[in-house]
Amino acid sequence: MRTLFLMFSVLMMSLSVIAQNDSLPKAIKLKLTEVTDKALLINEADIKIKSSAITVKNTPVDIKADYWDTTAYNPYRNTTSEFPIHIKFNDSTYSSPVLHHKVITSRYGWRRGRPHKGIDIDLVTGDSVVAILDGIVRFARYSHGHGKTVVVRHYNGLETTYAHLSEIAVTANDTIYKGGYLGKGGNTGRSSGSHLHLTTSYKGEYIHPEYLLNFDASNTIRAKDIWVTKKWTRPSYHSSRRVAHLTLFKTKEAAFASLEKQRKIYVVRKGDTLSRISRQNRTTITSICRVNKIKRNSTLRIGQKLVLEF
Ligand SMILES: [Zn+2]
Repeated sequence: MRTLFLMFSVLMMSLSVIAQNDSLPKAIKLKLTEVTDKALLINEADIKIKSSAITVKNTPVDIKADYWDTTAYNPYRNTTSEFPIHIKFNDSTYSSPVLHHKVITSRYGWRRGRPHKGIDIDLVTGDSVVAILDGIVRFARYSHGHGKTVVVRHYNGLETTYAHLSEIAVTANDTIYKGGYLGKGGNTGRSSGSHLHLTTSYKGEYIHPEYLLNFDASNTIRAKDIWVTKKWTRPSYHSSRRVAHLTLFKTKEAAFASLEKQRKIYVVRKGDTLSRISRQNRTTITSICRVNKIKRNSTLRIGQKLVLEF
């Protein structure tokens, strides 16, 4: 009997995606190759795919579509953001920008009469600095004040800045992965002592980095969905020397609810002082003065109406 049995049967499925105008495959080319001792049979068939049958998960976003400027540190200067800002994360952890234990030397907030829009992480000049998430390098050059700086735009629109570097190892438009090497830390620009100045921003709004990320050893992102109110984009609300009281908003409703302040009318009684009114009504003298446009040493009249805000 002739050796009619198949020596080998290879099923070679070469999937050649026939892409048309868009990136969705319209057909799959199936190539069947059968090798016997007699013949080599090749059958090809085009299998049409109904476009509705394809569900595209994680539709790629063109993060370079808007304000992609590789020469300006902040190309969003003349834009206004709508609050609360919604930041969505696919990851639950980020990569620490430095490879050693993170020591925070200065936080996001008001510092010596100026806004400090980032967080300072201690390092020794020459230490590696890496990207905290996947993205594309938007800016990699010297920037006034920030020294040698790299800005990475991530796929959720968030941008991270790595400033005061001693050496930049990437160029604009480079695709970078989470943990990818960006350069060496240093002390360039307006900086006293080597450290990394890290900022997190969205369309030019500099967000308190600790509102988004835990700066402990866990390297966790605080939630998949984070809603950012103005409070977290204004250094004047915070002190660079204190840990902020971080109440995270994970829904739009919670973020909106936090913006609605309660007010009530208080009628001044005999013997009242601003200190007593603030204490008894759980508000502050500063708030009473601001809302009612009065000074701390203003004289109160009996029967005077004050607006109290909580
Ligand atoms: Zn700084």
